[in-house]
Amino acid sequence: MSISLRPLISIGNRIRQTLLAQDCLLCQAPSGERPLCAACERELPSTAPACPRCALAGSSNAECGACIAHAPHYDATCAAFVYAYPVDALIQALKYGGQLALAGLFAHKLHQRIAKPGVDVIVPLPLHPARLAERGFNQAAEIAKALSRLCGIAMDARLGRRVRNTAPQTALPWRERAANMRQAFGCDRDLAGLRVAVVDDVMTTGATLDEFARTLKRSGAARVENWVVARTPRGV
Ligand SMILES: [Zn+2]
Ligand SMILES: [Zn+2]
Repeated sequence: MSISLRPLISIGNRIRQTLLAQDCLLCQAPSGERPLCAACERELPSTAPACPRCALAGSSNAECGACIAHAPHYDATCAAFVYAYPVDALIQALKYGGQLALAGLFAHKLHQRIAKPGVDVIVPLPLHPARLAERGFNQAAEIAKALSRLCGIAMDARLGRRVRNTAPQTALPWRERAANMRQAFGCDRDLAGLRVAVVDDVMTTGATLDEFARTLKRSGAARVENWVVARTPRGV
């Protein structure tokens, strides 16, 4: 390289660093290329211990009463966080504020929790095409893409699809949520023997994930795990 080019390259690097450097989304401390500073990242509310089936935080890692009384169609759930401040605000920032760097952070935290992923394919919870057009991206797909890279497991966003544009679950009382989701998904593939991980941002009652797991199992899936960023505490 000619000596005369070096100053230009170093100016280029400095501009790049300045453009990438940012402040922590929560406390505004410098956080380099990451959306949160190390201190804020450490304080995010963890779910441990929790029910292995539905990830509801509890006093032990035993299956919770609700899962024993009425087993869901999914086999396991891994949640990185409890859905509480500031995780709720961060998820909103990803979903509605377009802070896509948060998808990478969430994927990284989930990957740490999953430890040894025993699945064949990663699938983001499908968004209805009308909802996708409205938002411009599927936040679950952004997290799933990053997880696929971290785990070295293929992502297939077309494995399932949303066939009904259901009313937002948050607008409904808990007891109506399962009925609202019925027949919401479709899957035209033969998934015989496949172990599938379904990625989503928030798990509340689990009705949506349960219905999607039912659809995948009907198509032959051997095992369905949910990998979610945050799980609501009981009764929220
Ligand atoms: Zn911070
Ligand atoms: Zn449970």
